[in-house]
Amino acid sequence: MLVLVINCGSSSLKYELFDMKNGVSLADGLAERVGIAGGNNAVLNYRRRGNEKIEMAVSMPDHRVAVSLVLKALADPEHGVINDLKDIKAVGHRVVHGGEKFAASVLITPEVIEAIEQFCELAPLHNPANLLGIRACQELIPDTPHVAVFDTAFHQTMPKHAYLYGLPYELYQELGVRRYGFHGTSHRYVCEVATGLLAERGVPVEEQCIVTCHLGNGCSMAAVKGGKSIDTTLGFTPLEGLLMGTRCGDLDPALVPFLMDRLGLDTREVDTLMNKQSGLLGVSGVSSDMRDVHAAAAKGNERAKIAISLFCYRVRKYIGAYAAVMGGLHAVVFTAGIGENDPEVRQRSIDGLEFLGIKIDQARNADPSIRGQITDISATDARTRVFVIPTDEELLIARDTADFLNNS
Ligand code: ADP
Repeated sequence: MLVLVINCGSSSLKYELFDMKNGVSLADGLAERVGIAGGNNAVLNYRRRGNEKIEMAVSMPDHRVAVSLVLKALADPEHGVINDLKDIKAVGHRVVHGGEKFAASVLITPEVIEAIEQFCELAPLHNPANLLGIRACQELIPDTPHVAVFDTAFHQTMPKHAYLYGLPYELYQELGVRRYGFHGTSHRYVCEVATGLLAERGVPVEEQCIVTCHLGNGCSMAAVKGGKSIDTTLGFTPLEGLLMGTRCGDLDPALVPFLMDRLGLDTREVDTLMNKQSGLLGVSGVSSDMRDVHAAAAKGNERAKIAISLFCYRVRKYIGAYAAVMGGLHAVVFTAGIGENDPEVRQRSIDGLEFLGIKIDQARNADPSIRGQITDISATDARTRVFVIPTDEELLIARDTADFLNNS
């Protein structure tokens, strides 16, 4: 049973085709610069499993053309992996915002499309792009079920005291002002793996207290108790919480009017300052990429050093906070680009947390051969586990999508 996963951005389209008999990825790739300057300089990447990536310069004026070229590549007689489009039994779409309406993945119907449209106000950069992908695929692969998998869905189990802000309640009722949280597919995926590992160690699933740390360009953490997200660091938008590549994370909201007054910024400019010019980039002045920031710090750059300290301090602070809100801690999970690959950040994010039962095996944490592997980096005698778990959001989307086929 073949399932195609589509993750559509405003000018890009990521895709991956899975064989759900065994959950193996058959091919994946990325269309870039879709619709930019008429799509004349667009590029389509395609990689069949086990083969080199092929890069094609093609014209992609819109997402419909991008999807049709992806399908053509998948069915290509020489490099393709399918004989016929009918081989694709379902399509899973990543959708960023499902508001309060979607706590799980759903089959896409006209009503679901309408709801995703409604939530464009809450995710103006993402939902409209996700809809472009859905519409293009529905047109080109009309006879298969299409399933929406939402970034916000996993966090819909948060209790009201975790998702409400201390603002007038009417703003929640009238404008939907609340914490939604994002990266839900990643938190859910790694959490499911961690749940299995803890269950093997005899911790009953319903009692498990897990903190998941998704540390990539965007960063967020979640407190997951008994398999349910009960708090998360990203909020109404993906700006709150941890320090990120270019996003500032937590700050005093009174800084917004202060900066607007003092720097003469309008709302768009202050939004750009916080979303695009802050985080690792803004603090270090070097780069939004953690590898560059490490390289600068190693050469003695003080701002780069403080950027890394600030990054790790926030992760540590939220581990403590989430252990408190869950009333315990069985495991901390690190995932995404930094979480999976950066032993220094992992080490420094849990330094001083021995009182929570955390102790890592430093040699295993620093061992480069653990890259890409599910690894327990805690010391054998530690009370609390620390796992490195490579995330796979596409696989989770494919699994949710396949579930609809199996249950229909
Ligand atoms: P995205 O949120 O775009 O999916 P990723 O999960 O790919 O991002 O994470 C990107 C981040 O991961 C960047 O800051 C990058 O520097 C960092 N990263 C990737 N590999 C390493 C590495 N070997 N060591 C440290 N950081 C890394």
